[in-house]
Amino acid sequence: MSEEKSLNFIEEIVAADLAAGKHKSILTRFPPEPNGYLHIGHAKSICLNFGLAQKFNGATNLRFDDTNPEKEETEYVESIKADVQWLGFNWIKECYASDYFDQLYAFALQLIDKGLAYVDDSSAEEIAQQKGTPTVPGTGNNYRNRSVQENKELFEAMKAGKFKDGEKVLRAKIDLANPNMHMRDPLLYRIKTAHHHRTGDKWCIYPMYDFAHGQSDSIENITHSVCTLEFIPHRALYDWCIEQLGIFPSKQYEFARLNMTYTVMSKRKLLQLVQEGHVQSWDDPRMPTISGMRRRGYTPESIRDFCDRIGIAKRENIIDFSLLEFCVREHLNKIALRRMVVANPIKLVITNYEQAEEMLQSENNPEDENGGTRAVPFSKELWIEREDFMEEPTKKYFRLGPGLSVRLKSAYIVTCDSFDKDAQGNITTVYVTYHPNSKSGSDTSGIHVKGTLHWVSAQHAVKVTLNEYDRLFNVEDLNSAEGDFKEYINPNSLKTVEAYAEPALVNDHSDARFQFLRKGYFYRDPASTSNNLVFNRTVTLKDAWAKEQKK
Ligand code: ATP
Ligand code: MG
Repeated sequence: MSEEKSLNFIEEIVAADLAAGKHKSILTRFPPEPNGYLHIGHAKSICLNFGLAQKFNGATNLRFDDTNPEKEETEYVESIKADVQWLGFNWIKECYASDYFDQLYAFALQLIDKGLAYVDDSSAEEIAQQKGTPTVPGTGNNYRNRSVQENKELFEAMKAGKFKDGEKVLRAKIDLANPNMHMRDPLLYRIKTAHHHRTGDKWCIYPMYDFAHGQSDSIENITHSVCTLEFIPHRALYDWCIEQLGIFPSKQYEFARLNMTYTVMSKRKLLQLVQEGHVQSWDDPRMPTISGMRRRGYTPESIRDFCDRIGIAKRENIIDFSLLEFCVREHLNKIALRRMVVANPIKLVITNYEQAEEMLQSENNPEDENGGTRAVPFSKELWIEREDFMEEPTKKYFRLGPGLSVRLKSAYIVTCDSFDKDAQGNITTVYVTYHPNSKSGSDTSGIHVKGTLHWVSAQHAVKVTLNEYDRLFNVEDLNSAEGDFKEYINPNSLKTVEAYAEPALVNDHSDARFQFLRKGYFYRDPASTSNNLVFNRTVTLKDAWAKEQKK
């Protein structure tokens, strides 16, 4: 984050609290529910929570909000930890809401003792009905008048497994006429006979979000509990519980969640894409998950830069996906190793080249003066792109055609003499002569050319597979698109292309980022091996897509 940048509204609150001596230091938390993989929206929350701690010399807990036994799994816990670390953040403590189940149960008994909670036998429908509407006050029921003793016994019996799921709930006794519906005797506990990923079968009652979250914050002494706007109506209850229990006064602050064009940002929907086979896995490079973006070749720096650029707002909006792509291009341009790959090849034969081969040096990255060079083998027969040759070149065509000259990248200038076609009229071979004194770096030929072509020596080329990705969805704003979101899936979001690559790629570091000249930025798929090299296109070189839409 640049130092001159003004503080966002949450940073201002923190700065003011520290200045007023409200806290000696701050403690934030990132509280994912382990029911799916993290997505780019979570990255925004991670950057905000950990970023606050970094900026104000505080610390951040990673807390798994695991109060919902049915949907949660250890696999998700592990992936979340890996993703947060990969983004470049370290938590001071790893916490689980489930570790507080005994404490939360004790808190519930305290509320019962104070006459502030009761066991209700009504069904979910009855409770909903009795709640009224925002303009019509709710009506109480007889359960609301149960004695403290009876409530205590019933709640203990709930815990002891004496009742079936849904038979009873524990509710706070607050105010059935409160204009905030969340304050009309909200549920605190429900019965759920389910195995929990950490507590096993110890519990059959589980606290509701509203009874777990604020108290967990308080138990951990979280000073600033940051969440998304939909929790604004929950804040009164958050404060009420803390006040009634007389525990550490954590405070909740809300910011706008991240929405992005051409993708969905809900774990429930992302899970559907995986389960129904629309993508291969949670870390499919087309997914907006952090693991998918990692596999696609995004860098943590580019994601943090994106989160910094979009900032923190109090109103929801939708961010253009191309901003994220801009951020990754900016970073990759600085760090990516340049390599040559030919996808739709035609043969180029240099008729006057008599050596078996020679090793040329080509710079790894013109943007990085310490980037060094790599050896690129050059020989009589090369592959070039089919689109780089034109039988009857138009006036402004600066690539190859009969009589035209171009530079072969990091090699020589060649002039086209002739070409062969097959029976269908497709060009098969292009014949050129090279100018021995035109070698890159020591060119004395005096020949000026406008075009430079990438190429690969045919006898040294390695076969690689390129995964070229497009948007996962065809519409910009999926939140306002009608019908099932899956109707908008782009059927052409993955194109697989076989290509010839220069041999350096076999030995390049598996975590290296590449720019394949004129093709885009690529990253080696983690599942690929040196015999079967697969590269995922992180992003194209330019925003070709925006241009395409404007046509
Ligand atoms: P989803 O709707 O994708 O399931 P969630 O809010 O249920 O998301 P949690 O695991 O509860 O997911 O989220 C952990 C934290 O990340 C919460 O503090 C939540 O507010 C925040 N978060 C989730 N989605 C976004 C988003 N799109 N933008 C910003 N923050 C988000
Ligand atoms: Mg949630």
